[in-house]
Amino acid sequence: MDNRQIADRLEAFATLLELVEANPYTARAYRRAAETIRGAALPVAELARSGRARELRGIGPGIEARLRELVETGEIAELTELERELAPDLVGLGRYLGLGAKRSVELARALGIRTAAELREAAAAGRLRDVPGIGPKTEARLLEALAREAEPRPRQGLLLNRALELVGGVAAALEGQLAGDVRRWRDSCERLAVVCAAPDPGPALERFADLPQIVAVVEQHERRALGVTVEGVPVELVAAEPDRLGTALLRATGSPEYVAALEPLPDAPDEEGVFRALGIPWLPPELREQPFRGEPPDLVAPDDIRGDLHSHTTWSDGRASVEEMARAAIERGYEYLAICDHTPAVGAVQGLTPGDVRRQAEEIAAANELLAPFRVLRGIECDILPDGRLDLPDDVLAELDWVQASVHGGQRMPRAEMTKRVEEALRNPSVRCLSHPKGRYIGRRPENSLDLERIFEVALEEGVALEVNGLPDRLDLSGEHVREALRAGVQIVCSTDAHSTRGLGNMGLSVATARRGWATAGDVLNTRPLAEILP
Ligand SMILES: [Zn+2]
Ligand SMILES: [Zn+2]
Repeated sequence: MDNRQIADRLEAFATLLELVEANPYTARAYRRAAETIRGAALPVAELARSGRARELRGIGPGIEARLRELVETGEIAELTELERELAPDLVGLGRYLGLGAKRSVELARALGIRTAAELREAAAAGRLRDVPGIGPKTEARLLEALAREAEPRPRQGLLLNRALELVGGVAAALEGQLAGDVRRWRDSCERLAVVCAAPDPGPALERFADLPQIVAVVEQHERRALGVTVEGVPVELVAAEPDRLGTALLRATGSPEYVAALEPLPDAPDEEGVFRALGIPWLPPELREQPFRGEPPDLVAPDDIRGDLHSHTTWSDGRASVEEMARAAIERGYEYLAICDHTPAVGAVQGLTPGDVRRQAEEIAAANELLAPFRVLRGIECDILPDGRLDLPDDVLAELDWVQASVHGGQRMPRAEMTKRVEEALRNPSVRCLSHPKGRYIGRRPENSLDLERIFEVALEEGVALEVNGLPDRLDLSGEHVREALRAGVQIVCSTDAHSTRGLGNMGLSVATARRGWATAGDVLNTRPLAEILP
């Protein structure tokens, strides 16, 4: 069993524990363990066998016992039991149709059904209304949902990292290619699709239905199937004829508006061939939102990035030390890394006082001595107080190499006040970059009311850059706002806001978001050598 398979099983276990409404901390612990194992460098099966699994972060005695059971017997008895009891396929289908997990299980029990197909039969036979708690309205809604031919969408968009993991796993298992919203790196993904080449679609569709991620197949056509995960998220598979693979890929990648403007699409085995036949240049998927037939710009690429300018350590709420973060940055091929821990006003976590900032300087100096020519920068993520002042004295800020200014508390301010507050902070000569400018959490918290146009003007005057924060639930600036910033002539910075060594890996999300904003390497400050960044 490899790490990925182990992680998948633990994740499935976590999901089922949530369904039976077990202690939420237990479910969360399994989910975290799954994440650790997925990212572990060593084979976890061997660690578990030799009784060393607890060396991994977040693995206690309970999870260790389950891990050993899994690698020794190939299953977790309680998980198998839960799967039998809960029928994940019905839960997945039920959720897809808009029922809660508990409701789905009740429905399955009341009807004595075990599979999605049986649910369809029961619905067609008019048996849904016999179930206690299902009124005529719910029945009508379910029948309509079961019958719908419209484009399948999850009830809520998936964060890009989750969507990448799900679609990436399906694509890898079927030797297919990513398509849908994930391939365009949308910040919230709705259309999840994989395209694979198959002279005969049968085996591919079968393998798809057997994947651990797919608990039920909701629709099946000759060359297309729609499966759902236990969370009720629909995933589409297109098994294309090899000589039309490029056409199928382009169509499944979208956006619908972009594709519609190119129709009718010629058939070709690869995408380049389709574009060639259309007589237009190939367009990076990130730019395929609106109709466009022109020459794309030379977009910034992950390899252009020379360093990360926003990262945290154990000095505030990060999980690794300065040196560990720096070594991880070196492994990524970077030339520099800015350590930007929080200041006290951030509240929820510990923040650095002026004294801390100076003590941290010693640790950073030691790391620099050890790791030269790599450079660790003395940075800070300084809170912007409600009145626009910064959370550290000017003389402390002036000592630093790189100052990020951030709004964390008091985000409900009216637009004029919020704009004034941020503007004030950007006027401070030490400030080099505005972090997560709009302050949104995707799907959870709307954007701050901030007049970006005005902020662009001030940023331009003061030579301040705007961040494209790579945290998967932030991706802020968004692609659209990056484009506006660049039109205004403002520089952007692609950062991860990493709170762990693994978090540095979110650079791909930040760069992709910048690409969605049509950014070239020249637009992104941290594509430059350090000498051009430091004053
Ligand atoms: Zn922040
Ligand atoms: Zn941060």
